[in-house]
Amino acid sequence: MVSKVVFGRGSFNQMNEIIAPKRQNERAPFIYFIDDVFENNTTLISRISLLYEDYIIFISANEEPKTSQVDALVDEIILKTKALPSGIIGIGGGTVMDLAKAVSVMLKNNGSSEEYQGWDLLKTAGVYHVGVPTISGTGAEVSRTTVLSGSKQKLGLNSDFTPFNQVILDPELTFGIEKNQWFYTGMDCFIHCVESLNGKFINTFSKSYGEMAYDLCLEVFLGDKISTEEKQNKLMMASWHGGMSIAYSQVGVAHAMSYGLSFVLGIKHGIGNCIVFNHLEEFYADDVLLFKKMMKKHQISLPKGICKSISKQQLNMMIDVALSLTPLWENAIGKDWPFQITRKKLEKLYLKM
Ligand code: NAD
Ligand code: ZN
Repeated sequence: MVSKVVFGRGSFNQMNEIIAPKRQNERAPFIYFIDDVFENNTTLISRISLLYEDYIIFISANEEPKTSQVDALVDEIILKTKALPSGIIGIGGGTVMDLAKAVSVMLKNNGSSEEYQGWDLLKTAGVYHVGVPTISGTGAEVSRTTVLSGSKQKLGLNSDFTPFNQVILDPELTFGIEKNQWFYTGMDCFIHCVESLNGKFINTFSKSYGEMAYDLCLEVFLGDKISTEEKQNKLMMASWHGGMSIAYSQVGVAHAMSYGLSFVLGIKHGIGNCIVFNHLEEFYADDVLLFKKMMKKHQISLPKGICKSISKQQLNMMIDVALSLTPLWENAIGKDWPFQITRKKLEKLYLKM
């Protein structure tokens, strides 16, 4: 679990006060990873005080994090800084937060991040790391994973060392997100709840968080009398609770198949989940109906025919990636999932998308 968290509109202003006691010495900087969408946003950047050797790295969220990118950032930091950093602070969506988590652990674990894709492979705690979400839904701010695409697979560094040491939840930072992106990332949270609540791994701990997040999503995406501020506040907490819910259970069919889309076609997580979930009536009937209702209310249309012109080899690779995610299928279907989830079935579903 994340050990420390503050929540509140404007709480971003507490950053300096929060990190000051964690500074190791004047040579050990705090390094800020900031989504480059904020590069010219003086209201946010002017609130960051760089002291001593502290610096900012602006990160593009156009592509999802890769193991090679993590390794390159680690090398760059080691070359540039005279001492191990006092901390890494990730300000952005799932992309930037995951990079911050991955780099902070890889600064203290030898080799390439690719060697640690999987469960509980990291050997040592990372440097102090702080997460500040600026878009809500992924739950990356609370989860024990950081999802990376490597040369062979898209899989997280899942470990007790991965979660942030500190999170600052300031819903004001989620101002100004483009509507489609807000919807896609928000739906990631809705889908986390659906997959957790309907999965075999469900338990009272996960269920209590999952139900809370699910209800908040319905208020945000289907409610009529809800102000913009309340929407921002509630979606930020939904993201947190949704993340807590899957941390102690698992995701399911939409995530397994969306990982395939992302690995082969580079389709991003939020929109990928939406594209898949739209066709999952067989698994999550009532919630797919609700999802379609939300799309209609917010006038969202999804790309169609994305797998139409892909090669047989690409389709096979997509299916391989999806089928490799055993825990997700075990959660969604049960131990006998290989009898129900055949290559033919996945092929048919992918070709519908
Ligand atoms: P993202 O971080 O990729 O950002 C999406 C877009 O929104 C980008 O263009 C970004 O610049 C923009 N953006 C972010 N904040 C903004 C703001 N306040 N105003 C304007 N634009 C803003 O999107 P995401 O959906 O949050 O993250 C997706 C990533 O999260 C994927 O890489 C996925 O694998 C990962 N993920 C991780 C976990 C986890 O538990 N670690 C869970 C789910 C997803
Ligand atoms: Zn997700």
